[in-house]
Amino acid sequence: MISYEQARNLVMERARVLGKEEVVLAGALGRVAAAEIRSKIPVPPFRNSAVDGYAIRSEDTAGQAGPVRLKLQAEQPAGEYFRKRLSRGQTVKVMTGAPVPAGADSVVPVEEAEEKDGVIFIKHEFKAGENVREAGEDVKKGQVIIAAGTVLRAPHLGLLAACGVSRVKVYRRPKVAVLITGNELCRPGEKLVPGKIYDSNSIILEALLETSPAELVALRQVKDDFKSLTAALRAATGKADVIITSGGVSVGDYDLVKEAAKKLGAEEVFWKVAQKPAKPLAFYQLKKGKQAAWLFGLPGNPGAVIISFEEYVRPFIKKLSGWQDYWPQEVEAVLTVPYRKKRGRLNFVRVRLEQVEGTWRATPAGQQESGIISSLAETDGLALIPAEADFLPEGARVRVHLVEW
Ligand code: AMP
Ligand code: MG
Repeated sequence: MISYEQARNLVMERARVLGKEEVVLAGALGRVAAAEIRSKIPVPPFRNSAVDGYAIRSEDTAGQAGPVRLKLQAEQPAGEYFRKRLSRGQTVKVMTGAPVPAGADSVVPVEEAEEKDGVIFIKHEFKAGENVREAGEDVKKGQVIIAAGTVLRAPHLGLLAACGVSRVKVYRRPKVAVLITGNELCRPGEKLVPGKIYDSNSIILEALLETSPAELVALRQVKDDFKSLTAALRAATGKADVIITSGGVSVGDYDLVKEAAKKLGAEEVFWKVAQKPAKPLAFYQLKKGKQAAWLFGLPGNPGAVIISFEEYVRPFIKKLSGWQDYWPQEVEAVLTVPYRKKRGRLNFVRVRLEQVEGTWRATPAGQQESGIISSLAETDGLALIPAEADFLPEGARVRVHLVEW
């Protein structure tokens, strides 16, 4: 059986970006820029006023004893352009964002001026540049505004919009198909008959994929039957880059995912990892013309599904989508209680985290068995208890992966 570290490396070394596509800004949130972007214009594009006020020549207010009187020439709302040059003794009323006319070099806020019959009184001196936003002071023409590899967030999209960019080249997101196995499953809303349980993995995986850079192209329930499963897997391979199966990958009589994958000529990268939960995790490469499709066979217990998604599937999907920072975020924490386990498998322990005087403290969040769902809802992170450990005392330092679910 391979270790968690080996399994993680085997998965991640196979992740290659999928290619590029151009998308409109509205569809670019969370996508990764595939090329550097430079601005074709300066931002702001012209010198403009930072306040509602009066554009003046600062020299008109220099060294004056009493209030200065300036003659109001025009009013300029944002979006319009005053073409004449401001001469000595003149002023133009400007709104925030309106161009500052040629000749003017300073803006007096309305609150600091008085207006009477077309004359503006200014009580003190103003310096050149006051309340004026220079053309290009935010972004210079030709400046790099987005580096290749940037994950595009609200401010990046705003910056692109300000520079007039409407489309952006990003890495393609993987298409993901989900196959849920298990004859015991019925859907929430249906009547629960003896022997059946409600399917929680469908919605768990749908929700996890919703917050990862992937496109869900199919989500199907499949019977534990070799033919159905093989057919479903073949169809999924045709339309997805990544296939996630839930259940049917263990050693039970109806655990048929591996056989079905083999039937389709898949290459087993690994099956079984020295970890708890999700020991029977399987990872396969499927043939798909010249390309590859990838199969994560997740054990059916919901704890195993959600934890293997965070540890393997989400980082893999991120890397396929061009993310450079794909590993789970990690903090170091101290255990608030001792932890006992068998040697041999790394344990992912669901913990609650709190910070006390700069130190993260990790407390196990309830029951840890892989079939338990309730404690997942109380989990801030997964503490990684090393395979070789059998006892960690209270206060022991552990690595904790913050969960993104
Ligand atoms: P399996 O990996 O198919 O052997 O399933 C392991 C355990 O997970 C069994 O107790 C299943 O009933 C349970 N299980 C499998 N699939 C689901 C699901 N979609 N929702 C909830 N529990 C499931
Ligand atoms: Mg099953």
